Amino acid sequence: MQLTDSPRAEGIRRLYELMLRVNSSTDLSEVLDEIARGVVEVLGYGIAAIARLEGETFVMTTVAGPEEVREQIIGRRTPVASIFNEFAQADEWGVLRFVPHDRMPDALEESAWVPDFEPGSGPDSWHPLDALYAPLYSATGQLLGNMSVDLPPGNRIPNREERELLEMFVVQAGLAMYNAQQRERLGDQVRMGEMLRSVSSAGQLAELDLSLREAAQAIAKGLGTEHMWIRCFPSGDVGQVEQSAAYPPDDRESSRELVQVKSLLAQRAQEVGRPVVINHADAYDLDQGLNDLQREVVRELVRDNPGGSLMFAPVAVGRELLGYVLLVRDAATRSWTAEEQEAVMEVGRTLGRVVLNARLYERERHLVGELQELDRYKGELIATISHELKTPLTSIIGHIELLEDLDTGIGSVEAISRNAERLNRLVQNLLNYSQIQDKRETVRLPVDLCKLAESSLDLMTMQAEQGRVKMSLDMPDEPVLVTADPDELGKVIDNLVSNAVKYSRAEGTVHLEVGTDGKHAWVLCEDTGLGISAADQVHLFSAFHRSSNPEALSIPGTGLGLAISRRIAQMHGGEIIVASELGVGSTFRLRLPVRDASSEVPIDSMVALEDEPTDEIAVRRIGRAG
Ligand code: ADP
Repeated sequence: MQLTDSPRAEGIRRLYELMLRVNSSTDLSEVLDEIARGVVEVLGYGIAAIARLEGETFVMTTVAGPEEVREQIIGRRTPVASIFNEFAQADEWGVLRFVPHDRMPDALEESAWVPDFEPGSGPDSWHPLDALYAPLYSATGQLLGNMSVDLPPGNRIPNREERELLEMFVVQAGLAMYNAQQRERLGDQVRMGEMLRSVSSAGQLAELDLSLREAAQAIAKGLGTEHMWIRCFPSGDVGQVEQSAAYPPDDRESSRELVQVKSLLAQRAQEVGRPVVINHADAYDLDQGLNDLQREVVRELVRDNPGGSLMFAPVAVGRELLGYVLLVRDAATRSWTAEEQEAVMEVGRTLGRVVLNARLYERERHLVGELQELDRYKGELIATISHELKTPLTSIIGHIELLEDLDTGIGSVEAISRNAERLNRLVQNLLNYSQIQDKRETVRLPVDLCKLAESSLDLMTMQAEQGRVKMSLDMPDEPVLVTADPDELGKVIDNLVSNAVKYSRAEGTVHLEVGTDGKHAWVLCEDTGLGISAADQVHLFSAFHRSSNPEALSIPGTGLGLAISRRIAQMHGGEIIVASELGVGSTFRLRLPVRDASSEVPIDSMVALEDEPTDEIAVRRIGRAG
C-alpha cells in the first residue's frame, strides 16, 4: 500500500468544496454537471456520464470528458432492465458495480460506447470493455439515476482507496441530485401555475385567433419549447384545420395526413389521460395504434425535428376532441417532467373550453343576425300591409258615412260602420307599431306628466261611464316634468288607462297617480279588473300578445298597445313595470327620468305649441287616435 493519506485527504477536501457549491445550486443540470466534472477533475477518470431515471428508462443527460464522446452518448436512452441485467453479472464494490469485460452481455457490448485503446497485460489493467457503474439513490433509497465512469486513473482497475473516494462522491451525488430534483419540481409547479394562468387569461380575449396566439406564446415560454403548435378542427373532422396558432409563428399548412396522425396521437393521449411523448429513439418502435403509413408520417415528423422530444396533447371538452397541442423540445437538455405533462393536459382542457365558447358565440352571433333580418322583414311587411289597407279602408268609411247620412233604414249599415271602425283602429295600431319600430329621433320637449294624465282621463270618461268604472287621479300641485315627445308619451298613458278601463268589470275602479322623487317621474295606473296571470305577464309586452284568459280575449284588442308603449318608454330612457294578479287587478307603472333641459330638441313642432298658456310646457294636441 503506497498510498499516503494526502491524495485521499485532498480528494475529500475537493469533494467537500464541490458539495458546498452543488448544494447551493437550484439547477439540477448544473448540479449533475458539477458532479460529473468532479469525478473527472478530482478523481482522475477520463469520462463520467450521468443518466437520469425517467420511468423505466435511463436518459443520458450529463457527460464530462472528451467532447466527441459527449456528442455520441448524450440523450441516449437505456431501459433500466438492461442495466440491471448487467448489474447481475457485476462485482459489488459497496454501492459501485463493476462488470469485467468477460462478463459483459453481448448485446450491450454493441450499443455501448467503447474507448479505443489496447488493454494492458497486468492483472489490474483496465480493459476497453470493462464497465464501472454507480447507481444514484436518494436518502430514502429511491433510485434516481446511474453514473458510469470509464478510463480510470492510470488505466488501472481502481484500488480500494480510489473506490472509496468514488463511492463517497456517488453517495453525495445521489443526495444532491435528490435535493435539486425536489427544488426543480417545486420550481416546475410554480412555472406551470403561471403558464396556466396566462393561458386562461389569453382565453378571455375577444377573438379566438388572438386567444390562441397569446396562449401559444405563453405555453412556449412556460415550457421552454423550440416549437409549438395548436391546431383546432371542426368537431367530427379531424383532418381539417379551422383555427391554429404556433410559436414561433409558422404559417405553413400541414398536410391532411399529418394532421390526422397528430390528431390520432392526441386522441390516444386523451384516452390514457396523459400526453403522448415521442423521442427520436422511440420513433422506430412506435406503437400508438398507428398503421404503417401513419408510423412513417411520425418518423418523418421526428426527422424534421432532429434531437427533439415531441409531446402531443388533446384540446378537448369532455370526450370531444377539438384539436391538439404539439410541443417540441430538445431531448438532450430536458425531458418532460410529470408536472409539465399534467400542466399540458390542463392547457388542452382550458383551450377546449375557449374554442367551444368562441364557436358557440360565433353561432349565436350568426343567429342574432338572422333574427334581426327576420325582424326587419316582419316590420316591413306590417308597414306595407297596414299602409295598403289604410287607403281602401278610408274610402269604405267615407262611403259608410254617406250611407248613414242617407238614412236608408238598413240596420246592417250600423254594423258595417262599427266593424269598419274596428278595422280602422287595427290598421292604425299596425301603422303606429311599424312607425315606432323604425323611429330613431323624436321631438324632445318639456312635458308635464300631470297634464298628460288628466287628458288621458278625459279621453276615457265616456267609455268608463259606459262600463260603470270609476276613475280617480292623484297628483301633486306642481308640474311633474320630463323631457319627451308629448304625442308619443300621451299614447302610452292613453293606452294604460284605456286597457285599465277595458279590462275592468262593472263597478271596478281605475286609479291614476303621478309622482316624482327628483330623479325619476312616474305615472301609475291601478285597476281592480281581470288581472293577468304570471304566465301571460312574461309575454305581455310582445307584439300581438293577448292574455290567454278567455274573459280578456272576448274583449276586442290587437295586442299591439303595450308593445308600442314599451318601445316609446324605452326611447325616452324609461320603462313600464307591471304587477298583477289574475282576478284581482293590475298596476302598470310608467317610469321616466325627470326633465333634462340640456337634451331638449326644440324643432318645428314647438311652433305649433307656442301659444299654449303654459308657455314652455308642451301639452298634447287634442284629438289623437284612440
Ligand atoms: P290590446 O289591449 O289591444 O289587446 P295591449 O298590448 O294593450 O293590447 O295588451 C295586451 C294584452 O294584455 C291584452 O290583450 C290583455 O289581455 C292584457 N292586458 C293589458 N292591460 C291589462 C289590464 N289592465 N288588465 C288586464 N289585462 C290587461
